Amino acid sequence: MKLVYFPDPVLMKKAAPVTAFDDDLRRKIAEMEPLLDLESGIGLAAPQVGWGVRLLLARPDGDRSKTVTLVNPEIVKKKGAEWGEEGCLSFPGIWGNVLRAKWIRVKAQDAFGNPVEFEAEDLFARVLQHEIDHLDGNLFVNKMSPADQAVNRRKLEDMKARWSATGTPTT
Ligand SMILES: [Zn+2]
Repeated sequence: MKLVYFPDPVLMKKAAPVTAFDDDLRRKIAEMEPLLDLESGIGLAAPQVGWGVRLLLARPDGDRSKTVTLVNPEIVKKKGAEWGEEGCLSFPGIWGNVLRAKWIRVKAQDAFGNPVEFEAEDLFARVLQHEIDHLDGNLFVNKMSPADQAVNRRKLEDMKARWSATGTPTT
């Protein structure tokens, strides 16, 4: 299992719901976790490792000992709106401001299929919105402020050119 980078097609697809909560699922989740350590990541969605299922890992405080696994997550309520800077492990070197809800309520399942429901705000809410977007093929570069889209346009073009030539990231 390894990270995939923009513009890998798996990043643009809607991921499939997880239906089997078995050992194979949990083994793959365990394989994903070290990839979250790269660049001190605080969130990672399954499509970012080339796995097209509705599953994500997130770290509320960037703390390695507190990794949360959410399967089939959905946002059932949101409040407020706030701009904040985001990056993404699938877009090395790209940063930009994105408008997100300040507070959300999330429903999901854990790795064993048990239902979970909780509220998140501020940075954790932002991470979850970014990762849940990944499950629908929605990428943060398309939600950035127009100014940040302009700043990053050239880098994104370079990533596309490089990817089509080699299938590898620009860095
Ligand atoms: Zn991302």
